[in-house]
Amino acid sequence: MSNPSLLILAGDGIGPEVMDEVKRIIKWFGDKRGLNFDVSEDLVGGCAYDKHGTPLHDDTMAKAQEVDAVLLGAVGGPKYDNLDFSVKPERGLLRLRKEMDLFSNLRPAQCFDALADFSSLKKEVVAGLDIVIVRELTSGIYFGEPRGIIKEGNERVGINTQRYTESEIARVARSAFELARRRNNKVCSMEKANVMESGILWREVTQEIHDAEYPDVELTHMYADAGAMQLCRWPKQFDVIVTDNLFGDMLSDMAAMLTGSLGMLPSASLGQPMDSGRPKAMYEPVHGSAPDIAGTGKANPIACILSFAMALRYSFDQGDEATRIEDAIEKVLADGLRTADLLGEEGVTPVSTTEMGDAVLAALDASL
Ligand code: NAD
Repeated sequence: MSNPSLLILAGDGIGPEVMDEVKRIIKWFGDKRGLNFDVSEDLVGGCAYDKHGTPLHDDTMAKAQEVDAVLLGAVGGPKYDNLDFSVKPERGLLRLRKEMDLFSNLRPAQCFDALADFSSLKKEVVAGLDIVIVRELTSGIYFGEPRGIIKEGNERVGINTQRYTESEIARVARSAFELARRRNNKVCSMEKANVMESGILWREVTQEIHDAEYPDVELTHMYADAGAMQLCRWPKQFDVIVTDNLFGDMLSDMAAMLTGSLGMLPSASLGQPMDSGRPKAMYEPVHGSAPDIAGTGKANPIACILSFAMALRYSFDQGDEATRIEDAIEKVLADGLRTADLLGEEGVTPVSTTEMGDAVLAALDASL
Protein backbone atom coordinates (compact mmCIF):
# COMPACT_ATOMS: atom_id res chain seq x y z
CA MET A 1 0.00 0.00 0.00
CA SER A 2 1.35 3.44 -0.84
CA ASN A 3 2.16 5.98 1.83
CA PRO A 4 -0.40 8.69 2.62
CA SER A 5 0.31 11.90 0.76
CA LEU A 6 0.88 15.38 2.13
CA LEU A 7 1.14 18.63 0.20
CA ILE A 8 3.10 21.30 2.07
CA LEU A 9 2.33 24.90 1.16
CA ALA A 10 4.57 26.88 3.51
CA GLY A 11 3.66 30.30 2.07
CA ASP A 12 5.17 33.61 3.15
CA GLY A 13 6.82 35.33 6.10
CA ILE A 14 7.20 32.99 9.06
CA GLY A 15 5.25 30.27 7.19
CA PRO A 16 8.39 28.56 5.82
CA GLU A 17 10.20 29.04 9.16
CA VAL A 18 7.58 27.23 11.25
CA MET A 19 7.01 24.65 8.51
CA ASP A 20 10.72 23.72 8.57
CA GLU A 21 10.18 22.48 12.12
CA VAL A 22 7.12 20.47 11.03
CA LYS A 23 9.16 18.87 8.23
CA ARG A 24 11.69 17.67 10.81
CA ILE A 25 8.86 16.15 12.84
CA ILE A 26 7.40 14.44 9.77
CA LYS A 27 10.86 12.96 9.14
CA TRP A 28 11.05 11.86 12.78
CA PHE A 29 7.82 9.89 12.41
CA GLY A 30 9.25 8.14 9.33
CA ASP A 31 12.57 7.34 11.01
CA LYS A 32 11.35 6.43 14.47
CA ARG A 33 7.75 5.29 14.12
CA GLY A 34 7.70 3.80 10.61
CA LEU A 35 5.02 6.30 9.71
CA ASN A 36 6.02 7.52 6.25
CA PHE A 37 4.35 10.15 4.14
CA ASP A 38 4.82 11.05 0.48
CA VAL A 39 5.52 14.74 0.90
CA SER A 40 5.39 17.25 -1.94
CA GLU A 41 5.82 21.00 -1.67
CA ASP A 42 4.51 23.94 -3.63
CA LEU A 43 3.85 27.67 -3.46
CA VAL A 44 0.88 29.61 -2.16
CA GLY A 45 0.29 33.30 -1.46
CA GLY A 46 2.79 36.05 -2.18
CA CYS A 47 5.59 33.67 -3.19
CA ALA A 48 3.26 32.04 -5.75
CA TYR A 49 2.32 35.48 -7.06
CA ASP A 50 6.02 36.36 -7.43
CA LYS A 51 6.62 33.24 -9.51
CA HIS A 52 3.35 32.78 -11.42
CA GLY A 53 1.47 36.09 -11.16
CA THR A 54 -1.28 34.31 -9.20
CA PRO A 55 -1.46 33.36 -5.48
CA LEU A 56 -2.40 29.79 -6.37
CA HIS A 57 -1.40 28.15 -9.64
CA ASP A 58 -3.95 25.77 -11.21
CA ASP A 59 -1.43 22.92 -10.96
CA THR A 60 -1.09 23.50 -7.21
CA MET A 61 -4.87 23.53 -6.85
CA ALA A 62 -5.04 20.22 -8.73
CA LYS A 63 -2.39 18.70 -6.44
CA ALA A 64 -4.29 19.87 -3.37
CA GLN A 65 -7.38 18.04 -4.64
CA GLU A 66 -5.44 14.79 -5.00
CA VAL A 67 -3.46 14.52 -1.76
CA ASP A 68 -4.70 13.07 1.52
CA ALA A 69 -4.04 16.33 3.37
CA VAL A 70 -2.66 19.82 2.79
CA LEU A 71 -0.43 21.48 5.40
CA LEU A 72 -0.37 25.26 5.05
CA GLY A 73 1.96 27.76 6.77
CA ALA A 74 0.76 31.34 6.34
CA VAL A 75 0.34 33.84 3.52
CA GLY A 76 0.65 37.57 3.04
CA GLY A 77 2.93 40.44 3.83
CA PRO A 78 3.32 44.20 3.33
CA LYS A 79 4.98 43.69 -0.06
CA TYR A 80 1.62 42.48 -1.40
CA ASP A 81 -0.68 44.96 0.33
CA ASN A 82 -1.25 47.07 -2.79
CA LEU A 83 -1.94 44.23 -5.20
CA ASP A 84 -5.32 44.00 -6.87
CA PHE A 85 -7.84 42.18 -4.65
CA SER A 86 -8.08 39.29 -7.14
CA VAL A 87 -4.41 38.34 -6.76
CA LYS A 88 -3.81 39.13 -3.09
CA PRO A 89 -2.06 36.28 -1.22
CA GLU A 90 -5.19 35.52 0.85
CA ARG A 91 -7.08 34.73 -2.37
CA GLY A 92 -4.91 31.62 -2.70
CA LEU A 93 -6.06 30.42 0.69
CA LEU A 94 -9.70 31.20 -0.04
CA ARG A 95 -9.52 29.36 -3.36
CA LEU A 96 -8.19 26.25 -1.61
CA ARG A 97 -10.99 26.35 0.96
CA LYS A 98 -13.65 26.97 -1.67
CA GLU A 99 -12.60 24.47 -4.34
CA MET A 100 -11.89 21.74 -1.78
CA ASP A 101 -15.30 22.60 -0.25
CA LEU A 102 -13.87 22.67 3.28
CA PHE A 103 -17.10 23.37 5.12
CA SER A 104 -16.11 22.30 8.63
CA ASN A 105 -13.52 24.39 10.43
CA LEU A 106 -12.13 22.86 13.63
CA ARG A 107 -10.57 25.32 16.05
CA PRO A 108 -9.34 23.70 19.26
CA ALA A 109 -8.86 25.75 22.41
CA GLN A 110 -6.45 23.71 24.44
CA CYS A 111 -4.63 25.16 27.41
CA PHE A 112 -1.26 23.67 28.25
CA ASP A 113 -0.82 23.75 32.02
CA ALA A 114 2.50 25.57 31.81
CA LEU A 115 0.81 28.45 29.95
CA ALA A 116 -2.30 28.84 32.10
CA ASP A 117 -0.95 32.14 33.43
CA PHE A 118 -0.99 33.55 29.89
CA SER A 119 -4.77 33.55 29.78
CA SER A 120 -6.68 36.68 30.68
CA LEU A 121 -8.91 34.44 32.82
CA LYS A 122 -8.08 32.91 36.20
CA LYS A 123 -5.75 29.95 36.09
CA GLU A 124 -8.31 27.51 37.52
CA VAL A 125 -10.80 28.46 34.79
CA VAL A 126 -8.46 27.56 31.92
CA ALA A 127 -5.89 25.05 33.22
CA GLY A 128 -6.52 21.74 31.45
CA LEU A 129 -9.05 23.27 29.06
CA ASP A 130 -9.53 21.15 25.92
CA ILE A 131 -12.49 22.05 23.70
CA VAL A 132 -13.06 22.30 19.94
CA ILE A 133 -15.24 24.79 18.11
CA VAL A 134 -16.62 23.51 14.81
CA ARG A 135 -17.46 26.48 12.61
CA GLU A 136 -19.44 26.15 9.37
CA LEU A 137 -17.08 27.72 6.85
CA THR A 138 -18.59 27.91 3.39
CA SER A 139 -22.10 29.33 3.80
CA GLY A 140 -24.15 31.65 6.00
CA ILE A 141 -24.12 35.42 6.11
CA TYR A 142 -20.65 35.83 4.56
CA PHE A 143 -21.91 34.27 1.33
CA GLY A 144 -25.72 34.72 1.28
CA GLU A 145 -27.52 36.75 -1.41
CA PRO A 146 -28.76 39.44 -1.69
CA ARG A 147 -25.85 41.45 -0.43
CA GLY A 148 -24.45 44.88 -1.10
CA ILE A 149 -24.87 48.54 -0.31
CA ILE A 150 -27.93 50.05 -1.99
CA LYS A 151 -29.51 53.47 -2.02
CA GLU A 152 -32.93 53.84 -0.40
CA GLY A 153 -34.26 57.38 -0.63
CA ASN A 154 -31.59 59.66 0.77
CA GLU A 155 -29.53 57.06 2.52
CA ARG A 156 -27.41 53.99 1.89
CA VAL A 157 -28.42 50.58 3.18
CA GLY A 158 -25.95 47.75 3.84
CA ILE A 159 -27.38 44.28 3.22
CA ASN A 160 -26.18 40.79 4.03
CA THR A 161 -28.27 37.65 4.09
CA GLN A 162 -28.03 34.75 6.49
CA ARG A 163 -29.04 31.65 4.54
CA TYR A 164 -28.56 28.00 5.36
CA THR A 165 -29.92 24.97 3.57
CA GLU A 166 -30.83 21.84 5.48
CA SER A 167 -28.00 19.89 3.86
CA GLU A 168 -25.42 22.54 4.78
CA ILE A 169 -26.48 22.34 8.43
CA ALA A 170 -26.66 18.54 8.37
CA ARG A 171 -23.15 18.03 7.05
CA VAL A 172 -21.46 20.29 9.58
CA ALA A 173 -23.58 18.78 12.38
CA ARG A 174 -22.40 15.30 11.33
CA SER A 175 -18.82 16.53 11.35
CA ALA A 176 -19.28 17.75 14.95
CA PHE A 177 -20.94 14.52 16.11
CA GLU A 178 -18.17 12.42 14.51
CA LEU A 179 -15.59 14.56 16.27
CA ALA A 180 -17.40 14.24 19.61
CA ARG A 181 -17.38 10.46 19.29
CA ARG A 182 -13.56 10.59 19.17
CA ARG A 183 -13.53 12.85 22.22
CA ASN A 184 -15.91 13.12 25.19
CA ASN A 185 -19.14 12.52 23.27
CA LYS A 186 -20.71 15.92 23.95
CA VAL A 187 -21.90 18.51 21.43
CA CYS A 188 -23.35 21.93 22.20
CA SER A 189 -24.99 23.58 19.18
CA MET A 190 -25.13 27.39 19.25
CA GLU A 191 -27.42 29.68 17.23
CA LYS A 192 -29.99 32.43 17.83
CA ALA A 193 -33.19 30.43 17.41
CA ASN A 194 -34.94 33.03 19.59
CA VAL A 195 -34.63 35.74 16.92
CA MET A 196 -33.52 34.14 13.62
CA GLU A 197 -35.37 31.66 11.39
CA SER A 198 -32.05 30.29 10.19
CA GLY A 199 -31.35 29.60 13.87
CA ILE A 200 -34.64 27.72 14.25
CA LEU A 201 -33.78 25.55 11.24
CA TRP A 202 -30.23 25.06 12.57
CA ARG A 203 -31.61 23.78 15.88
CA GLU A 204 -34.19 21.50 14.23
CA VAL A 205 -31.80 19.92 11.74
CA THR A 206 -29.05 19.42 14.33
CA GLN A 207 -31.54 17.68 16.60
CA GLU A 208 -32.89 15.53 13.73
CA ILE A 209 -29.40 14.39 12.66
CA HIS A 210 -28.63 13.64 16.29
CA ASP A 211 -31.77 11.60 16.91
CA ALA A 212 -31.47 9.62 13.68
CA GLU A 213 -27.72 9.00 13.51
CA TYR A 214 -25.94 9.95 16.74
CA PRO A 215 -28.26 9.21 19.69
CA ASP A 216 -25.22 8.07 21.72
CA VAL A 217 -23.77 11.62 21.68
CA GLU A 218 -25.05 14.12 24.26
CA LEU A 219 -26.53 17.13 22.44
CA THR A 220 -27.46 20.46 24.02
CA HIS A 221 -28.52 23.74 22.42
CA MET A 222 -27.56 27.22 23.55
CA TYR A 223 -28.16 30.72 22.21
CA ALA A 224 -24.85 31.99 20.84
CA ASP A 225 -24.76 35.08 23.08
CA ALA A 226 -25.30 32.94 26.17
CA GLY A 227 -22.64 30.60 24.78
CA ALA A 228 -20.15 33.47 24.66
CA MET A 229 -20.86 34.22 28.32
CA GLN A 230 -20.50 30.57 29.31
CA LEU A 231 -17.22 30.31 27.39
CA CYS A 232 -15.79 33.10 29.55
CA ARG A 233 -17.41 31.90 32.77
CA TRP A 234 -16.59 28.17 32.73
CA PRO A 235 -15.29 26.94 29.36
CA LYS A 236 -14.54 23.46 30.67
CA GLN A 237 -18.27 22.63 30.61
CA PHE A 238 -17.97 22.19 26.81
CA ASP A 239 -16.41 19.50 24.65
CA VAL A 240 -17.42 20.19 21.02
CA ILE A 241 -19.32 23.34 20.05
CA VAL A 242 -20.92 23.51 16.59
CA THR A 243 -22.08 26.80 15.18
CA ASP A 244 -22.54 28.80 11.99
CA ASN A 245 -19.99 30.84 10.07
CA LEU A 246 -20.57 34.22 11.73
CA PHE A 247 -20.98 33.07 15.33
CA GLY A 248 -18.15 30.58 14.81
CA ASP A 249 -15.85 33.33 13.61
CA MET A 250 -16.30 35.24 16.85
CA LEU A 251 -16.67 32.37 19.31
CA SER A 252 -13.59 30.53 18.01
CA ASP A 253 -11.41 33.65 18.27
CA MET A 254 -12.67 34.25 21.77
CA ALA A 255 -12.18 30.65 22.88
CA ALA A 256 -8.73 30.55 21.32
CA MET A 257 -7.60 33.56 23.27
CA LEU A 258 -8.59 31.87 26.52
CA THR A 259 -5.43 29.87 26.00
CA GLY A 260 -2.85 32.61 25.45
CA SER A 261 -0.74 33.18 22.35
CA LEU A 262 -1.56 33.12 18.65
CA GLY A 263 1.63 31.12 18.20
CA MET A 264 -0.03 28.14 19.94
CA LEU A 265 -3.25 27.77 17.91
CA PRO A 266 -3.75 25.10 15.25
CA SER A 267 -6.76 24.56 12.99
CA ALA A 268 -8.21 22.06 10.57
CA SER A 269 -10.65 22.58 7.71
CA LEU A 270 -12.43 19.44 6.59
CA GLY A 271 -14.66 18.61 3.62
CA GLN A 272 -16.51 15.58 2.31
CA PRO A 273 -14.95 12.12 2.61
CA MET A 274 -12.88 11.07 -0.43
CA ASP A 275 -12.79 7.54 -1.92
CA SER A 276 -10.28 6.57 0.78
CA GLY A 277 -12.84 7.52 3.44
CA ARG A 278 -10.60 10.39 4.58
CA PRO A 279 -12.18 13.82 4.49
CA LYS A 280 -10.67 16.44 2.21
CA ALA A 281 -8.52 18.35 4.63
CA MET A 282 -6.27 21.33 5.12
CA TYR A 283 -4.37 21.96 8.36
CA GLU A 284 -2.88 25.32 9.24
CA PRO A 285 -1.92 27.49 12.20
CA VAL A 286 -4.40 30.25 13.01
CA HIS A 287 -1.72 32.95 12.89
CA GLY A 288 -0.64 34.91 9.83
CA SER A 289 2.75 35.45 8.24
CA ALA A 290 3.92 37.78 11.08
CA PRO A 291 6.06 40.04 8.88
CA ASP A 292 7.20 41.94 11.99
CA ILE A 293 9.26 38.94 13.15
CA ALA A 294 9.87 37.06 9.88
CA GLY A 295 13.54 36.18 9.43
CA THR A 296 14.46 36.83 13.06
CA GLY A 297 14.13 33.26 14.40
CA LYS A 298 11.49 34.41 16.88
CA ALA A 299 8.47 32.60 15.45
CA ASN A 300 6.79 30.01 17.62
CA PRO A 301 6.47 26.80 15.57
CA ILE A 302 4.07 25.11 18.01
CA ALA A 303 0.81 26.15 16.26
CA CYS A 304 2.09 24.64 13.02
CA ILE A 305 3.36 21.50 14.78
CA LEU A 306 -0.03 21.10 16.51
CA SER A 307 -1.70 21.48 13.10
CA PHE A 308 0.30 18.47 11.92
CA ALA A 309 -0.82 16.62 15.08
CA MET A 310 -4.42 17.37 14.04
CA ALA A 311 -3.66 15.90 10.61
CA LEU A 312 -2.39 12.72 12.27
CA ARG A 313 -5.57 12.50 14.33
CA TYR A 314 -8.25 13.51 11.83
CA SER A 315 -6.85 12.45 8.45
CA PHE A 316 -4.64 9.49 9.33
CA ASP A 317 -6.31 7.87 12.36
CA GLN A 318 -3.13 8.24 14.39
CA GLY A 319 -4.65 9.73 17.52
CA ASP A 320 -2.00 8.17 19.78
CA GLU A 321 0.80 9.70 17.73
CA ALA A 322 -0.98 13.07 17.80
CA THR A 323 -1.12 12.78 21.58
CA ARG A 324 2.59 11.94 21.57
CA ILE A 325 3.27 15.31 19.90
CA GLU A 326 0.96 17.17 22.30
CA ASP A 327 2.63 15.51 25.30
CA ALA A 328 6.06 16.42 23.93
CA ILE A 329 4.97 20.06 23.65
CA GLU A 330 3.51 19.96 27.17
CA LYS A 331 6.85 18.67 28.45
CA VAL A 332 8.93 21.29 26.63
CA LEU A 333 6.73 24.06 28.01
CA ALA A 334 6.81 22.56 31.51
CA ASP A 335 10.63 22.59 31.22
CA GLY A 336 10.36 26.37 30.83
CA LEU A 337 11.30 26.75 27.16
CA ARG A 338 9.58 29.73 25.55
CA THR A 339 9.71 31.44 22.17
CA ALA A 340 9.58 35.25 22.20
CA ASP A 341 5.76 35.43 22.08
CA LEU A 342 5.54 33.51 25.39
CA LEU A 343 8.12 35.37 27.43
CA GLY A 344 7.19 37.36 30.52
CA GLU A 345 7.31 34.86 33.36
CA GLU A 346 10.21 34.45 35.76
CA GLY A 347 12.65 31.59 35.30
CA VAL A 348 11.87 30.65 31.69
CA THR A 349 14.43 30.02 28.96
CA PRO A 350 14.06 32.05 25.73
CA VAL A 351 14.55 29.90 22.63
CA SER A 352 14.50 30.42 18.88
CA THR A 353 12.19 28.72 16.38
CA THR A 354 14.78 26.03 15.65
CA GLU A 355 15.64 25.50 19.30
CA MET A 356 11.96 24.96 20.05
CA GLY A 357 11.88 22.40 17.22
CA ASP A 358 15.01 20.72 18.66
CA ALA A 359 13.38 20.52 22.08
CA VAL A 360 10.15 19.00 20.72
CA LEU A 361 12.18 16.40 18.80
CA ALA A 362 14.17 15.58 21.96
CA ALA A 363 10.92 15.18 23.90
CA LEU A 364 9.59 12.91 21.14
CA ASP A 365 12.78 10.82 21.39
CA ALA A 366 12.31 10.64 25.15
CA SER A 367 8.75 9.37 24.65
CA LEU A 368 9.94 6.15 22.97
P1 NAD B 1 -0.27 37.75 12.34
O1 NAD B 1 -0.96 36.57 12.92
O2 NAD B 1 0.66 37.49 11.25
O3 NAD B 1 0.54 38.51 13.53
C1 NAD B 1 -0.10 39.12 14.65
C2 NAD B 1 0.93 39.27 15.79
O4 NAD B 1 1.19 37.99 16.37
C3 NAD B 1 2.29 39.79 15.29
O5 NAD B 1 2.83 40.64 16.29
C4 NAD B 1 3.13 38.55 15.17
O6 NAD B 1 4.51 38.78 15.35
C5 NAD B 1 2.56 37.65 16.25
N1 NAD B 1 2.63 36.23 15.85
C6 NAD B 1 1.84 35.60 14.97
N2 NAD B 1 2.22 34.33 14.83
C7 NAD B 1 3.25 34.14 15.65
C8 NAD B 1 4.09 33.03 15.94
N3 NAD B 1 3.91 31.83 15.37
N4 NAD B 1 5.09 33.20 16.83
C9 NAD B 1 5.29 34.38 17.44
N5 NAD B 1 4.53 35.47 17.21
C10 NAD B 1 3.53 35.35 16.32
O7 NAD B 1 -1.40 38.78 11.90
P2 NAD B 1 -1.27 40.18 11.14
O8 NAD B 1 -0.02 40.90 11.63
O9 NAD B 1 -2.57 40.83 11.27
O10 NAD B 1 -1.07 39.82 9.60
C11 NAD B 1 0.20 39.73 8.96
C12 NAD B 1 -0.01 39.17 7.56
O11 NAD B 1 -0.53 37.83 7.65
C13 NAD B 1 -1.03 39.96 6.74
O12 NAD B 1 -0.58 40.00 5.41
C14 NAD B 1 -2.30 39.14 6.86
O13 NAD B 1 -3.15 39.34 5.77
C15 NAD B 1 -1.74 37.75 6.88
N6 NAD B 1 -2.61 36.75 7.55
C16 NAD B 1 -2.56 35.51 7.03
C17 NAD B 1 -3.29 34.49 7.64
C18 NAD B 1 -3.17 33.11 7.09
O14 NAD B 1 -2.30 32.86 6.28
N7 NAD B 1 -4.00 32.18 7.51
C19 NAD B 1 -4.01 34.75 8.80
C20 NAD B 1 -3.99 36.04 9.35
C21 NAD B 1 -3.26 37.04 8.72
